[in-house]
Amino acid sequence: RRRSEPAAALDRPTVSFELFPPRDLDAAPRLWRTVRELEAAEPDFVSVTYGASGRTRETTRALVTRLLRETTLNPIAHLTCVGTSREEVATIVEEFLDEGVRSFLALRGDPPAGQTDWQPHPDGVDTAAGLVALLREIERRRCAGSPAQAVRARVRPLSVAVAAFPRGNHATGGTREQDVQALLAKQEAGADFAITQVFFDAEAYLGLVAEARRAGVTIPIVPGIIPTTDPARLERVQELTGVPVPRTLLDLLGSVDDPAERHRRGIRASVDLVNGVLDGGAPGVHVYTFNRHEAALDLLEGADLRGGPPAPGRAPADRAAPTR
Ligand code: FAD
Repeated sequence: RRRSEPAAALDRPTVSFELFPPRDLDAAPRLWRTVRELEAAEPDFVSVTYGASGRTRETTRALVTRLLRETTLNPIAHLTCVGTSREEVATIVEEFLDEGVRSFLALRGDPPAGQTDWQPHPDGVDTAAGLVALLREIERRRCAGSPAQAVRARVRPLSVAVAAFPRGNHATGGTREQDVQALLAKQEAGADFAITQVFFDAEAYLGLVAEARRAGVTIPIVPGIIPTTDPARLERVQELTGVPVPRTLLDLLGSVDDPAERHRRGIRASVDLVNGVLDGGAPGVHVYTFNRHEAALDLLEGADLRGGPPAPGRAPADRAAPTR
């Protein structure tokens, strides 16, 4: 799928990937290989994370703008409000806009390392909904600017995504109910769609969607899926997000020594999860890649979601058996 291809012609689930920016983009040939491999699968978009305290502000911008200039990918820039005044956030957004970026994932962000409680900047935005509202305000300002700016702003309007939490946001201690209310507030502020935190059972996602719909949330909610091939990574994800990894999954992966068999088992489990959410009506899948393409692409192959030409040099035996 190319940037110019009309989305309406594509009657199949969306596919997207999350990347994180390396500290030095030029010194990251492996990431670039991953980018090219992911690009060949013709995703709808890729999102690029943004570190706490603006630590990766420059690296996020560097990766997003390079993706925009040198690939056919549609990049979405994550943006947080951590330790930043409204004015600084607005400047960062304007810088992205000047680079041609039109898509953002608006997040509150977590407290910086070593700080447990969320403390908004005294002149800052303190919720993701507030950040969405600020993005929409900047867009309105641009529409009301010079005639040339107004035309550009209308031709390429902003797209704003937000986060959603199938198992409640453990990082904030938020309950599912509070997170659904927060999601509703983000929608009311102007969010276009949501992407979820990781989860390991389809019911968690489908339950969130059902509760969100009852509360009045109408925007699409894209499930965030981690290819479950690496037990050590899963444990790190659990530590970071507080989302518990099922013991059965860890046992399934841990009870085999052969890395290829472990990979196959992990992909099969992820494919089942993807099939479960798609069968339940999910609009697509957003794959957490951890800057590695192998498992992400095997997951798409297994779920029959990979776009583009067949990947060269990948033995079918290395793939999970499609279950769809
Ligand atoms: P908010 O929606 O502002 O919610 C924060 C807390 O306030 C929650 O507990 C919520 O329940 C509560 N709340 C807010 N509004 C209401 C309301 N109206 N009613 C009741 N309760 C309310 N972090 C990064 O630093 N960089 C990244 O790049 C990044 N990418 C992410 C990508 C995805 C897809 C996800 C799911 C998370 C990502 N995060 C990232 C983590 C995210 O910043 C944290 O989880 C953060 O703790 C919450 O962000 P939020 O945008 O959901 O905040």
